[in-house]
Amino acid sequence: MSEDKDFDNLKELDAVCDECKKEDESVTQNLILTGFKICKSCRVSKTIFPI
Ligand SMILES: [Zn+2]
Repeated sequence: MSEDKDFDNLKELDAVCDECKKEDESVTQNLILTGFKICKSCRVSKTIFPI
């Protein structure tokens, strides 16, 4: 059952930023790293994460 749930989540990984609606490969990376579905530009302007 958990595998099915993971598959549903993958279908949402369309790499479109929730903030600016632009498609960017950094959106998927930020979603995995930060939990926010945003591109690198929006990530910088929206929230500062400790490195
Ligand atoms: Zn963006």
